[in-house]
Amino acid sequence: MQHQFKLLINGVLVDGDEHIDIIDPAVGRPFASCPIASLDQLDAAVQSARIAQRAWAETSLDHRRQLLLALADKIEANAEQLGLVLTSEQGKPLADSAWEVSFLVSAIRYFASQTLPIEVIEDNEVRRVELDHRPLGVVAAIIPWNFPLGLVGNKLPAALLAGNALIIKPAPTTPLSTLLLGEIINELVPPGLVNIIADNNDLGSALTSHPGIDKIAFTGSTATGRKVMSSAATDLKRVTLELGGNDPAIILDDVDPKKIAPDLFFSAFANTGQVCVSVKRAYVHERIYDELVSELTSLAQAAKVGDGREEGVKFGPIQNAAQYNKAIQYLEIASRDGKITAGGAMYDRGGYFVRPTIVRDIDEKSPLVVEEQFSPILPLIPFSDEDEAVAKANALPYGLGASVWSSDLDRAYALSKRIQAGTVWINQHLALTPNVPVPAAKQSGIGVALGLDGLKSYTQLTVTNIKK
Ligand code: NAD
Repeated sequence: MQHQFKLLINGVLVDGDEHIDIIDPAVGRPFASCPIASLDQLDAAVQSARIAQRAWAETSLDHRRQLLLALADKIEANAEQLGLVLTSEQGKPLADSAWEVSFLVSAIRYFASQTLPIEVIEDNEVRRVELDHRPLGVVAAIIPWNFPLGLVGNKLPAALLAGNALIIKPAPTTPLSTLLLGEIINELVPPGLVNIIADNNDLGSALTSHPGIDKIAFTGSTATGRKVMSSAATDLKRVTLELGGNDPAIILDDVDPKKIAPDLFFSAFANTGQVCVSVKRAYVHERIYDELVSELTSLAQAAKVGDGREEGVKFGPIQNAAQYNKAIQYLEIASRDGKITAGGAMYDRGGYFVRPTIVRDIDEKSPLVVEEQFSPILPLIPFSDEDEAVAKANALPYGLGASVWSSDLDRAYALSKRIQAGTVWINQHLALTPNVPVPAAKQSGIGVALGLDGLKSYTQLTVTNIKK
């Protein structure tokens, strides 16, 4: 790719002293070069954000809203170019990239439609007590490689509407679409309000420990999340941690396997299994176990896997070599601890391809079940008793999403109340829209993304208590 990607620092598109190659995961070879920021550039980005934020915090909500709406229009007008770069670096099919860009646009428009009114909680002859939501300052937005642009949508519009400035740091294997986003929005944004720096996976801790950062909005693995939290402890920075998941789906005996199989399949294999809230383990009632396994096996065998730029491809490669090697190890574990009915690696294709893989009769203590495998592999575990299924679903330290599938909504609803997760879906999974908060339970994170609660997490709640 000929495009010269640039960092965005203080409203200026700049080169880095060093560059890294970005790999196209569909072919496993570099296709573009990415500038990486020095520590001095990181510092310059934070200093410029501090200055820009002071002026931004003085603007009206309406002024901020107008900027957000202009950003959404500009991004939408450049959706095709953004989508192509996203597919080239991330691997997902062009249609999925288009969806991701549209999610970013709709998140911006959603937050642009929100307000943060002063709330009066008491007003009488004695006193008046008000709550208001003030900006926090400068936000470090740290992004993983599975949804490089979609996850900017979780952070940028809420942070800006609330009166903050940002430093955005994409993942080192998928920085280009975010740098291109910087180019696209730069003319609209006051210098320093949004900075975008790329790294070679080495600037995260300098950013999270920087004294000029007030809040860290981090999305990534639970292991890195722990480091972020300890880094934030020094000066008690605010944190939102959107971390790993190992979502269970509980499928009751009254479902029609043929009917639910396509939705369940999508919920496990969208984005080639690399979604924090995809179904990672399915507990299936023994009465329908064989039939559901067989339906999912047929869907996996028919799935079109390939280069995301090819017509009709539904599943792209795994995003990077490290994750691909993990997936290969999990495939070996799958055949050791269970029985693979469809799928496996596609060594003949080049690139990092693994077909959607269905695994039955798996040992429940297998790493494929208890770890966050983040691969296109779905283990299915039979159960006979609902209490047992709930206990197993709740047994792991993760708590991001979960789902219950049943033709009886009351039954599914009652069961959903017993599951420990930030979101429990019924007869679906992975249904995410910007207006619905995404909370994290247990070791899947701290805080909430999206929705009004997500917006409030970019603010300092302040009480004004007046004696009359
Ligand atoms: P990762 O934790 O390796 O990296 C995430 C980001 O953190 C990258 O930008 C990376 O450069 C940066 N980073 C690395 N070391 C750092 C440090 N010491 N301090 C600060 N930042 C640092 O995660 P990944 O492999 O890129 O992404 C996959 C993970 O993300 C999975 O666990 C997935 O479940 C999770 N995820 C969670 C959500 C959610 O909403 N909960 C959404 C998407 C992905």
